[in-house]
Amino acid sequence: MATHIRLRGSSPRKGGFFKMFTAALAAAAILAALFVAYLLFEFERPTLVLEKEIKYLGGTIELPLHAADSKSGIRSLTITLTQGENGAVLMERHFQRSAWFKPAGPPTLKEKVVIDAQKAGIRQGEAELTITVRDFSLNGLFKGNATVQRIAVIMDTVAPRVTLLHGQRVLQPGSAAVAVYTVSETPQRHGVMVDQRLFPGFPTGKKDTYIAYFALPWNAGPPERVRAVAFDEAGNEGAAAIVTSYKKVPEKHDTITISDQFLAQKMPEFEQYYPEMRGTLLEKYLYINNQVRISNAQTIAEVCATTDSSQLWSDRFLRMPGAGRAGFADQRTYLYNGQAVDNQTHLGVDIASTARAEIRAANRGKVVFAQYLGIYGNVVIIDHGQGVASLYSHLSSIETSAGTLVEKDQPIGRSGTSGMAGGDHLHFSMLIHGIFVTPIEWWDQNWINVTIKSALNAS
Ligand SMILES: [Zn+2]
Repeated sequence: MATHIRLRGSSPRKGGFFKMFTAALAAAAILAALFVAYLLFEFERPTLVLEKEIKYLGGTIELPLHAADSKSGIRSLTITLTQGENGAVLMERHFQRSAWFKPAGPPTLKEKVVIDAQKAGIRQGEAELTITVRDFSLNGLFKGNATVQRIAVIMDTVAPRVTLLHGQRVLQPGSAAVAVYTVSETPQRHGVMVDQRLFPGFPTGKKDTYIAYFALPWNAGPPERVRAVAFDEAGNEGAAAIVTSYKKVPEKHDTITISDQFLAQKMPEFEQYYPEMRGTLLEKYLYINNQVRISNAQTIAEVCATTDSSQLWSDRFLRMPGAGRAGFADQRTYLYNGQAVDNQTHLGVDIASTARAEIRAANRGKVVFAQYLGIYGNVVIIDHGQGVASLYSHLSSIETSAGTLVEKDQPIGRSGTSGMAGGDHLHFSMLIHGIFVTPIEWWDQNWINVTIKSALNAS
């Protein structure tokens, strides 16, 4: 109440106060108007980044783009294609204001836009792709600030033509196969597609002619679809079917007895590399033979993922002299105290000779791995190009290094018992793009002639 009385008492200055109050109100209104204007009329253009270089346009293209507008938000995204007089809007998207007091569209757009360029009636040849992003600012005659990106493109809707010159007819799991084909234009990506997996092809040296090695893993069933495929830079796909029949290989079985003596002798080596192992010697053994085996297989697949594009090898692969022990794809049952404790598949051939026997490169190639790797112990992997690799395991010493080009029959190390090996022997494997295949074929000149040389001669 006291305040009220004092106000009354100041009545002679009432007019001045009213003026001040109006002025403050006006200032507040101007500030509010400026604030609204700031919200509605901002002058910052949206940003637009294409995360892929676009040069060719096929039937459809995938356009990963990233647009952002931190002030008023994104109002629209438009993609048009023009060619001379002709033009068509390929895509148009408009966004809503999220609320009246928050006049903004999405602050960022990160999406893969798939557009059908063929629908636009654009002919083969040069064209221009225009991408426009607008924001919600009232600037630009109420149309918003715009960022426009123009890209010169070449419209190409013609698929590369793939012609099969040779395609393996009989597919066996754990066996290498080959296809030779021509492609009518320089492909961006090509090879043999076995269901969803692409085995890349490589130039044979003859014009427009390529070879692709492929394989089914030892335990694979019949594939649904095998094709030689080629994609051009516009994403057009050409394909030629490879008609195959599937031939199952009879299973071989083997048992391995694990003794306490073997465990006591072997586990300290693994304890050094895998200190995380716990439990009894048998539990540690099972950890190595399962978890470590899986991680080793992944490493080998990664190592084999890159390969030389030319055929570095010639003629049959050399087999180390010595007695053959375990074979490829043997189904092994591990017995401990007469009980089956584990099952694994043996993906190579074991050859025993004298202790610390000289190990030589089976063919010419580039060493891509030369170090310790779990169950394989000291191992050397040689890339022979075009997806073909050989592997030498359980070595007592490695006498080469990654990156070295080795000739056929050149010494690379000595046999031993490193990794999961009881006695001194060489475990030898062949791989096609990281898939283990039987080495027996690669030791056989006749198989090389019939499977690979004749396929190359057919071109
Ligand atoms: Zn072996």
